[in-house]
Amino acid sequence: MIPARRPVAQPIRWQQLWREAVTNALELLDLLGLSAHAESLLADGDAGFPTRVPRGFIARMRHGDPRDPLLLQVLPRAAEALDVPGFSDDAVGDLAARSTSGVLRKYHGRALLIATGSCAVNCRYCFRRHFPYAEETAAAGHWQAALTSIAADTSISEVILSGGDPLSLGTAKLAELGAGLARIPHVRRLRIHSRLPIVLPERIDEEFCSWLTDLPLQKVMVVHANHGNEIDAAVSAACARLRECGASLLNQSVLLRGVNDNAPVLARLSERLFAAGVLPYYLHLLDRVRGAAHFEVDAACGRRLIEELRACLPGYLVPRLVREIAGASSKIPLETAPMMAPDGRIE
Ligand SMILES: *Cc1c(COP(=O)(O)O)cnc(C)c1O
Ligand code: SF4
Repeated sequence: MIPARRPVAQPIRWQQLWREAVTNALELLDLLGLSAHAESLLADGDAGFPTRVPRGFIARMRHGDPRDPLLLQVLPRAAEALDVPGFSDDAVGDLAARSTSGVLRKYHGRALLIATGSCAVNCRYCFRRHFPYAEETAAAGHWQAALTSIAADTSISEVILSGGDPLSLGTAKLAELGAGLARIPHVRRLRIHSRLPIVLPERIDEEFCSWLTDLPLQKVMVVHANHGNEIDAAVSAACARLRECGASLLNQSVLLRGVNDNAPVLARLSERLFAAGVLPYYLHLLDRVRGAAHFEVDAACGRRLIEELRACLPGYLVPRLVREIAGASSKIPLETAPMMAPDGRIE
């Protein structure tokens, strides 16, 4: 029998790369030459949140380094089992704001659509580890209920696709939604929150780009990278394609202990993002979800880091430090203290 081969010139489809993701923590350690550390690094189980990492993301990790900042984001560690007071299953109050159509209405002018519960990568710090919305997404209801509720509220000018990761849906599915939104006169902008351009940049393929280009709405893509090492040539190329589609590109990060809680690392992230055509937008304090306490960096340390960034970067490369509080009318900015001039004036 002739073994099946991939045709040489065909790019590998993103769906295949998605399926080939590593879903076993021991295999992940083995690929990085870290098998010997399995006992000290790993949790007994996955705490109900499976391991999942695309191979292209693993390729950006340093071989043989148990403290690699990309690895720490995806490795199920023993500390996840700790029950720490203040860390709960619904840290951002989304369970209360949720409607059955998959639409979250927390902030004025914007409607956030839980498009899908799936992600290409399972980030250990994510609130999603406890969010039981797999079956209640907007896509599952074929969008109709979601579109109807957005059409009924003329204060909504921007629709945000979130999840999970909305780009885990096929382009045909997104096109169905885009067509529905484009028919609603008060909707002017489509914003997509996705980590896929970072963890699986092949997702930004020709089919997706031609859909996005033709979509008659303003487009904003908010990607999610936490460390400069996440941005390689394939990611930069995906970002360039997105900009060619007319999308404005922003990044949100989460401040994570051991991953990006120092100023040089955050400064390099901002520089690498900008080189790829992406502006830093938010730096989030961790949502206090059960199992993620070992990632927490306190607000005072966050403020100090932002001041250090201000001292070394142009203002547009300094992200806004924010925290999400259930019931608030926006993300809450954590203002840093004004700097005192030597003569005591506030500058
Ligand atoms: C974060 C968020 C938004 C967007 O907030 P911006 O400050 O505009 O980025 C909208 N809706 C919900 C439910 C959110 O959590
Ligand atoms: S929603 Fe975002 S942060 Fe959470 S697991 Fe998915 S990609 Fe990671």
